[in-house]
Amino acid sequence: MRSSNFLYSSSPSQSVMSKLNFIVPIKEVPDIENVKFDREKGRIDRSSAEAEPNPFDLNALEEAVKIKEEIGGKITVLSMGPSQAEKTLREALSRGADEAVLLTDKNFAGSDTWATSYTLAMAIKKIGNYDLILCGEKSVDGDTGQVGPEISEILNIPHVAFVNEVTDRDENSISVKSETWSRSYLRKVDFPGLITVTKDVNEPRLPSLSDKLKAKKAEIEIWGVSDLEEFAEEVNYGGTGSPTAVVNIEVPEEKGRKSKIFEGETKEAVERLLTSLEKDVGGL
Ligand SMILES: Cc1cc2nc3c(=O)[nH]c(=O)nc-3n(C[C@H](O)[C@H](O)[C@H](O)COP(=O)(O)OP(=O)(O)OC[C@H]3O[C@@H](n4cnc5c(N)ncnc54)[C@H](O)[C@@H]3O)c2cc1C
Repeated sequence: MRSSNFLYSSSPSQSVMSKLNFIVPIKEVPDIENVKFDREKGRIDRSSAEAEPNPFDLNALEEAVKIKEEIGGKITVLSMGPSQAEKTLREALSRGADEAVLLTDKNFAGSDTWATSYTLAMAIKKIGNYDLILCGEKSVDGDTGQVGPEISEILNIPHVAFVNEVTDRDENSISVKSETWSRSYLRKVDFPGLITVTKDVNEPRLPSLSDKLKAKKAEIEIWGVSDLEEFAEEVNYGGTGSPTAVVNIEVPEEKGRKSKIFEGETKEAVERLLTSLEKDVGGL
């Protein structure tokens, strides 16, 4: 057992429980239903919609809370973003996280997925003694699904992506069901490990009013480049540390659907429909 797994009594009513350290990286994203795209600048206009926690990350947090309720532990939520992302971390605290860290620094700006994963991984190293990292399967804005697996590569720990059910857990490992390429896999991950979860894994509970009020007053750790210097090399941050760059983003023109009604006898109408389709798509 790793040194992070020690025994403690969490409350008089609970027997001796193991203390695991869970880390949940949470991205703040714009409300995707309402956000607009700035065609001139070629990027999302973040001022056009409210920001909120990435929905998949709430599933990851809920799963951490469920495991914590069963076997004990501490949940640290971690976000890289502008200072406004504090709001998302407070929401996570109201939903059961114990501690929150915000990574914010102008040198983190312009990060691609690799630089994002590197920065998050270095912060996780600084937090230290982690057992299980739980990410969303993807973000609803960037939508690459790369950050979770990349964090595990950088930390050199095992990961399972697209987890839709946690079948078992104990102080040393977690057993999960994951759905990839239309197949279902049962996997056991020894700690320290990482999973990314789908929306099917659980139904996140809503925070109570008193939890919301408590979270409002909670302290959030703010870390920048200087806080990570023991673990990270500055050259790997932001645009400088990004092996990829966005050249241009275009939104495809919306094409309205064409509708046509073919009236008359069914056989005749179907024949005319087929002729019309043949003309439109150049043969069936
Ligand atoms: C080439 C390129 C250039 C980019 N340049 C910029 C830029 O200049 N400015 C900019 O703002 N963005 C930029 N981005 C977007 C930025 O890299 C992504 O927002 C970020 O890497 C997360 O990727 P994703 O949204 O695809 O996350 P995914 O990989 O889909 O997310 C999976 C999971 O990882 C975790 N996660 C992801 N991001 C974070 C985060 N920030 N904090 C905590 N947890 C997280 C969450 O658990 C999430 O569910 C760029 C992306 C690319 C590809």
